[in-house]
Amino acid sequence: MKLDALIIGAGPAGCTAAIYLARAGYSTLLLGSTPPGGQLLHTNEIENFPGFPEPLSGAELMMQMHKQCAGLKVPLSAEKAASVDLSANPFKTTASDGTVYESRTLIVATGATARWLNIESENRLRNKGVSACATCDGFFYRGKTVCVIGGGDSALGDAMFLSRFAASVKLIHRRDKLRACAALTAKAQSNPKISFVWDSTVEEILGGETVSGLRLKNVKTGQVSDLACNGVFLAIGHDPASELFDGKLDLDKEGYISVHDHTHTSVPGVFACGDVADPRYKQAVCAAGSGCMAALDARDYLNRL
Ligand code: NAP
Repeated sequence: MKLDALIIGAGPAGCTAAIYLARAGYSTLLLGSTPPGGQLLHTNEIENFPGFPEPLSGAELMMQMHKQCAGLKVPLSAEKAASVDLSANPFKTTASDGTVYESRTLIVATGATARWLNIESENRLRNKGVSACATCDGFFYRGKTVCVIGGGDSALGDAMFLSRFAASVKLIHRRDKLRACAALTAKAQSNPKISFVWDSTVEEILGGETVSGLRLKNVKTGQVSDLACNGVFLAIGHDPASELFDGKLDLDKEGYISVHDHTHTSVPGVFACGDVADPRYKQAVCAAGSGCMAALDARDYLNRL
């Protein structure tokens, strides 16, 4: 299939790029994954996306964006990109079902994925009480005690969400200062179900068939103690989904795609937008904005070809 633009990733960045390119009359295809929508699919409540004064879930927001793309006749494939060949234009992208897409421009909007502690007990108890998605699994902890690991906006957002179901939520943070914004911090600190365990790292997740607790180490005193809980939710940040482009595009030391002049990558005709190229802001609205910029940069490139 020959296209003006192939967009890899169907989150806010990819969808916005698709909307702009389709409205400009360019043949465009969105390659998502199953289900398409990226990290927002795991976001419980969004209150800061302009135009939506009432809180809505990330899944609802993504549904609206996909509907807008469908209205503009942008095909959305639920296949992942398996490999890319950027050595010549048109670029060739092979999807996981074997379909090869040729495109004059490529927009990378693959986002980022949740980070794990990578300790043995976490791997063993994953999906048996260990999760990186409070939205997906919080429901199962009605009346239970759960721990959230991390001190950023995700951790506090997850703790707030979990407090709707759980009897008690303990937030474990490796420092004594939160990274999260002041508004979320104030909300979480005034929630009677949420308590904080400071200066502590997870030595081990305890449990046989399911999680029964955490072994924590106080990084200031060195003291090791056990904390009983039924579930553990990781919220310790994300890694950019850029493996496909390793060795093909310039990446920074953390694996984010390096961009210059806003969305241009090291290969002319390939543009990057959203969290895969954003180690700093990581907001849905920023992703959408950078998707627009990538589309306009791709349009200028196509006009020059
Ligand atoms: P983040 O801001 O990078 O925070 C990650 C947290 O996990 C930090 O507190 C960090 O500790 C801790 N951490 C990292 N690695 C760890 C490890 N190995 N063990 C223990 N703790 C570890 O990630 P995020 O909270 O996912 O947020 C990412 C971006 O999305 C941010 O810009 C955030 O503002 C944004 N976001 C916004 C919203 C919203 O607007 N509603 C919601 C969610 C996320 P340190 O603090 O010590 O580094």
